Amino acid sequence: MARYTGSVCKLCRREGTKLFLKGDRCYTDNCALNKRNYAPGQHGQSRKKLTEYGMQLREKQKVKRFYGISESQMAKNFLIADKAQGITGENLLKVLELRLDNVVYRMGFASSRAEARQLVNHEHFTVNGKKLDIPSYTVAVGDVIEVKDKSKKSEKFKNLIANHNGNTVEWINLDKDNFKGTVVSEPRRENMDLEIEEHLIVELYSR
Ligand code: SF4
Repeated sequence: MARYTGSVCKLCRREGTKLFLKGDRCYTDNCALNKRNYAPGQHGQSRKKLTEYGMQLREKQKVKRFYGISESQMAKNFLIADKAQGITGENLLKVLELRLDNVVYRMGFASSRAEARQLVNHEHFTVNGKKLDIPSYTVAVGDVIEVKDKSKKSEKFKNLIANHNGNTVEWINLDKDNFKGTVVSEPRRENMDLEIEEHLIVELYSR
């Protein structure tokens, strides 16, 4: 899959919202969106009024970029969400939140989802005691995600734990001293931090 390799801040500027793609910097005054809150490019400062289709497309792009997934992964996750019981848009966000790379990020073991994806790819984590290197793997309630024993001894993870503030999301029970977290419930929409109108994505895929 061809990955975007340009400036990630331009993606936030394009979408007009913080996508938190650059780790700690996103929480500082140096966030590019604080300085230039308009789309990149020559005509970036003259945003046109979007058509209905344009709005639907932008919401889909926001979610794709926020979670760092491809078009085909997005479509696949939508199908899963559509088949599940409940509200499709919320289901979609729930499925994406439960991706292994996102869970590692939510546990505070990576400063961005891109870093979490890399750490998972490099086999630093186990799920229920088994090594797992698939960032898109969907974890379930009750799953235990843990840093692999060998990796726990590495300077990177020792420093990470030493500096970890202990915070995580309400649906993960973090045991930071043992480098692990347990998914205790499904993520709830009201606790997700992405500003998105997910019903527009449902409308887009229903066209
Ligand atoms: Fe987006 Fe973070 Fe860059 Fe701000 S610093 S524009 S939130 S990637």
